[in-house]
Amino acid sequence: MTDQTLIILGASGDLTARLLLPGLGALLATGQVPGLTLIGAARDDWDDEQWRRRVAESCGEGVVSRTSYQRADVTDAEDLRRILGAARGPAAIFFALPPAVTARACDALLKLDLPEGTRLVLEKPFGIDGDAAAALNAVLARLVPEERIHRVDHFLGKSTVLNILGLRFANRIFEPLLSAEHVASVEVVFDEALALENRAGYYDHAGAMADMIQSHLLQILALLAMEAPGTLDAAEFRDRKADVLRATRLWDPSPAACSRRARYTAGTLDGRNLPAYADEPGVDPSRGTETLAELVFTVDTWRWAGVPFRLRSGKAIGNSRKEAVITFKRPPRIPDGLTGCDQPDRLRIGFGPDALGLDFNINGPGDPFQLDPVTLSAAFGPGDLPPYGEVLRGVFENDPTLSVRGDTAEHCWRIVAPVAKAWRAGEVPLLEYAAGSAGPKDSLLAQP
Ligand code: NDP
Repeated sequence: MTDQTLIILGASGDLTARLLLPGLGALLATGQVPGLTLIGAARDDWDDEQWRRRVAESCGEGVVSRTSYQRADVTDAEDLRRILGAARGPAAIFFALPPAVTARACDALLKLDLPEGTRLVLEKPFGIDGDAAAALNAVLARLVPEERIHRVDHFLGKSTVLNILGLRFANRIFEPLLSAEHVASVEVVFDEALALENRAGYYDHAGAMADMIQSHLLQILALLAMEAPGTLDAAEFRDRKADVLRATRLWDPSPAACSRRARYTAGTLDGRNLPAYADEPGVDPSRGTETLAELVFTVDTWRWAGVPFRLRSGKAIGNSRKEAVITFKRPPRIPDGLTGCDQPDRLRIGFGPDALGLDFNINGPGDPFQLDPVTLSAAFGPGDLPPYGEVLRGVFENDPTLSVRGDTAEHCWRIVAPVAKAWRAGEVPLLEYAAGSAGPKDSLLAQP
């Protein structure tokens, strides 16, 4: 690999310190990106030395040999020209900026001639709705070709994606059963013990639906429902994902019937007393931001028509689970005399730690006519890099497989748009659940 440069716009921010630099450090430690130049830029009055300390703290000592800091307003074209002028070889520009600043920085880049090979790396949220995402896409399309745009979904690390694809398409056993003929429902649940954790500035404007369902969980749905790609190259893989998402819509025309929203009240979690979301510093309770969202979708294809896909994510949930669960239909007939087959068969794919579980009924110990539920489990191998290491590896290798394609980013906003509109209009009540509980009682999930 030849010389290249990573330019981080927003070098003094939280994402850079907490996720991006540690991911970069882990990637560089593998020796896969020799000759990298790192440039950090923000408005803070830092010097090279201060930035180097930040890099060393997050990345580890001596991992990055060439790095410098540029004090700049990244919405100013001349400042951007100066930053790009300091790059060696093709540059990847990482927008670790508030979304509104990212949009203005992209507008400013239109005034420059970007060198051949420039890549743009954009964070979530990508726009705030379908129209904003389309407008941002239109600007990006004037800057670089689509395959050089990386819309980051760090949730979809390579190992998680490959775990699901490997399970489905490198085995004979499961895939023939994954259709409406045998599957009763699919749930993708990503509940977290974490509460707001001082991120009101971002989260209170986003909420659980935009933060998790519209972005990450629809991507998981696409992996679970897609047809087998012939190869794993970016074009084919992203086409197959887009096919699923184009066929995905709300389960019911009424948002009240196919969505739930809720926010946590004060409670106790893991021995910690948590304040109500509405009382957290920086939260404007009148905005009515949800900390838990549930939406039910249909994937209107021959394979999946009639199977509900229930997606849910919530904050401050006790005994939280992070998994996709495929629940199978009951056997067409169970012979008279066998008892205890109350639980349907389930295939569970756990996220973090990534693991597989298959729940089914067998003749257990004791009475041979009495069936007992058992679980076969296996661990998926962990990835060799943290999520942002995987994101950056894709960027440096010019491989957009794991990044979200422009049309898909727009489409995911459009899928949830009727619910967002109904929630804004107050047509679906904002329920409450105590922090540390399992979420609101009125849930759309089939299993607790
Ligand atoms: P922060 O507010 O912590 O950091 C923003 C950075 O942008 C700061 O370095 C700020 O420095 C810089 N900045 C803002 N305006 C300008 C400007 N005009 N010129 C130059 N620099 C500017 O935000 P986060 O790091 O939390 O988030 C960044 C992005 O990452 C957002 O899109 C967010 O949604 C996304 N994200 C964040 C995650 C997280 O855990 N933090 C997780 C996933 C995504 P200064 O104002 O001093 O110039």
